[in-house]
Amino acid sequence: MANSKYEYVKALFEAEDKLMPSTWIVLRINGSNFHKFSDEYGFEKPNDERALKLMNACAKAMLEEFPDIEFAYGFGDEYNFVFKKTTQFYKRCSSKIVSIGVSFFMSVYAREWKEFFPDKDLSLKSAPFFKFRTICYPSTTIVRDYLAWRQVDYCHINNQYNTCFWMLVKSGKNKSEAQDEIKSSRSQDKYEILLKQFNMNYNELPAIFRKGSCVFRDKVEEKCNGNGQPVERLTSKLVIDHPDIIGDEFWVDHRHILKG
Ligand code: ATP
Ligand code: ATP
Ligand code: MG
Ligand code: MG
Ligand code: MG
Repeated sequence: MANSKYEYVKALFEAEDKLMPSTWIVLRINGSNFHKFSDEYGFEKPNDERALKLMNACAKAMLEEFPDIEFAYGFGDEYNFVFKKTTQFYKRCSSKIVSIGVSFFMSVYAREWKEFFPDKDLSLKSAPFFKFRTICYPSTTIVRDYLAWRQVDYCHINNQYNTCFWMLVKSGKNKSEAQDEIKSSRSQDKYEILLKQFNMNYNELPAIFRKGSCVFRDKVEEKCNGNGQPVERLTSKLVIDHPDIIGDEFWVDHRHILKG
C-alpha cells in the first residue's frame, strides 16, 4: 500500500464492527415479506414441505462452505447459524459475516429452487429477499436458551396456531371467523379443536413441521487408536434432523456440539 495522503479516509471513517470475543455468534436469517412471497409462489399452507426442504438445503450448504458454523436451526422462513465461540471468521466483523452469509445463502436458494419447485420459475419480479442479523451469546447455557426460545415461542406456537387456522379456513370458515375462533385459545384448546373437529392429532404431524430442522456434523466412534482405545472424531457427514432441542436429551447425545 502506498500510504498516500488519502489513506486517512479509512482510519477515520470506516467503522469497526467487531463482535465480542469468546462469544457464540448467531447469524439469524429471516425471509423478508415471505407472507407475500409464499402466496405468490403458491406455498401450501400452513407448511409447504418443498419450501422447508429448500431452506434445509441452503443451511446444509452453509455448513459445508463455512466450517466454523457448528449448528443450525430453522423453520418457516427463518434459519439460525451458530458459529464457534473461538471463530475468527472475517475477524468477527459483523457486516462481513452478514454479507457473506446472506449472499451465499441467497445464491444457493436461487440455484436450488428448480430442484424443489420444478414447475415454478423464480422470477425477479417476485425475488426472495432475506434479512440477517448477528447476535452474541456469552455462554452455552444462553445459546441453548436462545435455540429453545426459537423452537418453543416461534416454531411451536406459530405452527400450532397456523395449523388450526388453516384447518378452519380449509373447512369453509373465512379468515376472520377462523381468527376469532382461536384468537384467545390456549395451546390445549387448539389441540382439542384439531382432534375433535378434524380428527387430527397434532403430536402426530411430521416433526419437520412441529419441531423445525437442525443441521449439524455427526460424530462417530472410530474403531481404535494405536493404544487400542476407541476414539471419537467428527465426520464431515452432515445430518438434517428434527429433534426437540429444548430438553437435555439431544444435547446429551450430541455432546460435541456447543460444548464451548
Ligand atoms: P418479515 O419481513 O417481517 O419477516 P414475513 O411476511 O416474512 O415478514 P414472518 O413472520 O417471517 O413474516 O412469517 C413468514 C411467512 O412466510 C409466514 O406468513 C408463512 O406463512 C410464510 N412461509 C414461510 N415459509 C413457509 C412454508 N415453508 N410454508 C408455508 N408458508 C411459509
Ligand atoms: P429481525 O430483525 O431478524 O426481523 P425480529 O425480532 O423482528 O428480528 P422476526 O423473526 O422478524 O424477528 O419476528 C417478527 C415476527 O414474529 C412477526 O410476524 C411477529 O408477529 C412474530 N412474533 C414475534 N414474537 C413472537 C412470539 N413470541 N411468538 C410467536 N410469534 C412472534
Ligand atoms: Mg422482524
Ligand atoms: Mg419473514
Ligand atoms: Mg419468519
